[in-house]
Amino acid sequence: MNNKYFDNVVDKNYFAPTKPVIVNLENIAKVYGVGELEVRALNSVSLTIEQGEYCSIMGASGSGKSTAMNIIGCLDKPTAGHYYLDRVDVSQLADDELAKIRNFKLGFVFQQFHLLPQLTALENVILPMIYAGIKSGERRDRAVAALTRVGLENRLHNKPNQLSGGQQQRVAIARAIVNKPVLLLADEPTGALDSRTTQEVMEIFTELNNSGITIIMVTHEPEVARMTRRIVWFRDGQVIHSHLTPEELNSVALGT
Ligand code: ADP
Ligand code: MG
Repeated sequence: MNNKYFDNVVDKNYFAPTKPVIVNLENIAKVYGVGELEVRALNSVSLTIEQGEYCSIMGASGSGKSTAMNIIGCLDKPTAGHYYLDRVDVSQLADDELAKIRNFKLGFVFQQFHLLPQLTALENVILPMIYAGIKSGERRDRAVAALTRVGLENRLHNKPNQLSGGQQQRVAIARAIVNKPVLLLADEPTGALDSRTTQEVMEIFTELNNSGITIIMVTHEPEVARMTRRIVWFRDGQVIHSHLTPEELNSVALGT
């Protein structure tokens, strides 16, 4: 075909820049226990997640979701394979190095919030900045900004037991983003919340993702997964779907 324009377009597409890869799992295996008691929790899992993605991980209980999240979150190491986080191979780093990466590069949100009960909302959000060595003069302003972002500017001095479940989870989200992580990890973040509060918390995650934060969330609630942009489906320690759209979720959930 004599069409120079077409050739140029093809070339441009071919070299189109892609977003940086934040998570790159290559043939990850995780085996717990030894001998007869050995459990292969992950079996050759490969997965890439680019900067700015908003991803949920689904799959039956025991399919390896938490094991994968623990490895992605540098809380555990794979038995085999490589994990590149933000292009650094972190697969076999020593525990203290992994702890540094968690403090500097990752934010965590858990089902049960895990706030320190004796500290105020503000103090809970300041704490990870102390671990990360942020100068004391900066900490308060940054904590206030993070709490404002999640709509809690009027709750700075409340302790967790003076806050509702949804508010506590919003403090936890502020705490998770205050060190500007390259990746925000949430394991069942709405598991302890009613449906109205779930909606509120999910709106915050969506807003954070719209502002550029990369998010990976484990959930067993299809209505929560549908609010993310991409669904990864685990079965028996393997990724059986890596790029489901929210619309495609129904057919998988129904087993078709
Ligand atoms: P999910 O989060 O999808 O429910 P998990 O990652 O927790 O799945 O578990 C995957 C498999 O690994 C299951 O068979 C589970 O029993 C096993 N497993 C998880 N953690 C451990 C552990 N610490 N020791 C032994 N087996 C484990
Ligand atoms: Mg789990």
